[in-house]
Amino acid sequence: NAATEPIDEAPAAVTSRSIPAVLGADLEVPVKGGKLVSYANLDYAASAPCLEPVSAAVTAALPAYSSVHRGAGYASQLTTARYEQSRHTVRAFVGARPDDAVIFTRNTTDATNLLARCLPAGTTAVVFDTEHHASLLPWARSVRLAPPAFPGAAVRAADEALAGIEGPKLLVVTAASNVTGELWPIAALAHIAHRHGARILVDAAQLVPHRRLNLTALDLDYVVFSGHKLYAPFGAGALVGRRDWLAEGEPYLKGGGAVRSVEETIEWHDDPEPRHEAGTPNVLGAIALAAACDALSATGWTALVREEEELIARLRSGLASIEGVRELSLWGDDHPRVGIVSFTVAGYSAREVAEALSGEYGIGVRDGKFCAHPFVRHLLDVSDGGCEDDTASAVRASIGIGTTREHVDRLIKALRDLVAR
Ligand code: PLP
Repeated sequence: NAATEPIDEAPAAVTSRSIPAVLGADLEVPVKGGKLVSYANLDYAASAPCLEPVSAAVTAALPAYSSVHRGAGYASQLTTARYEQSRHTVRAFVGARPDDAVIFTRNTTDATNLLARCLPAGTTAVVFDTEHHASLLPWARSVRLAPPAFPGAAVRAADEALAGIEGPKLLVVTAASNVTGELWPIAALAHIAHRHGARILVDAAQLVPHRRLNLTALDLDYVVFSGHKLYAPFGAGALVGRRDWLAEGEPYLKGGGAVRSVEETIEWHDDPEPRHEAGTPNVLGAIALAAACDALSATGWTALVREEEELIARLRSGLASIEGVRELSLWGDDHPRVGIVSFTVAGYSAREVAEALSGEYGIGVRDGKFCAHPFVRHLLDVSDGGCEDDTASAVRASIGIGTTREHVDRLIKALRDLVAR
């Protein structure tokens, strides 16, 4: 199976340990009155801008790309090598075990749904109501747990829920919340899951752009994440984890590549990578995703985290200094978090705030319920509110590589202006 064979081509060497630049850092956007101002992108949690080394890796692959796995031509061999090297890079990036499967998907949602289709019959998923819909919804059978009041309560609630379930079980949990940025105790939850004979799936969509993840050290069974939140363009994500369920589950897509032979009976591949990756894969997406992994690893997490923590502290203390602005938090001010902050502004709907920030100050944020309706309702302490209900919405500012102090200061000043009106 090409997916697990060693590759000749060495990964692109990244020599600089300085933080790479993002594309679009010089983007100018129109604000009220027709003036152009530099864009303050504070919406990284939705999709992060592309890193320059990612763009360079895609540009380098473009002149000689061809179909993977089945072509004898040089370009096809080269592209196959690059695609499979990308798989190895992703494996290393999340610290996966040597025998873990690495399946390229479209994004986190796709990866989670793929795993959901491969669960052994009768599996119950245990999910907190704090999850993104991508982790909350794909399960045929699930037990939903209320938002826990503190991290230890999450572990206790999972312990109790798993103890009461017969048959195969899967604990599903986010590593870093897309609403509050708060980090979840995934090592302790993995330990509890395994004590009950369950497996754990970690939604790392918001963790991997901000922190190193080591699947082996944390003893996680599966992780999923998206390239477009990791400084690569849209369309590629990954599911990484134990092979057995994936080798037995129904092929996610049925077609060429997933099948060993088609005679009177059909013989599907039982290696998870070809089995679930039928059709021509998103090769450039995989190359881009791997280039982002390489660039972040080469930069080093110490430098990235230091930079982010300084900016997020500045942002949070700025928000706390404005009367009427309330940051949303499940576990309190001091709980560690990545560069994501959600808040409300008294007297304004979330939409009004987001529109004013964009239209008057050139600041891009997200408003709404962030595909986490139960969690946002819980944080806002509202029992109902449909999708369009603005009373059940918040504003989210999220940062990453390329965010500057000026962006943060502009947001704080804009909010002060709004509150003062
Ligand atoms: N999980 C979390 C925590 C997220 O923040 C997101 C995206 O917002 C997703 C899953 C879904 O990611 P995608 O839209 O790339 O499938």
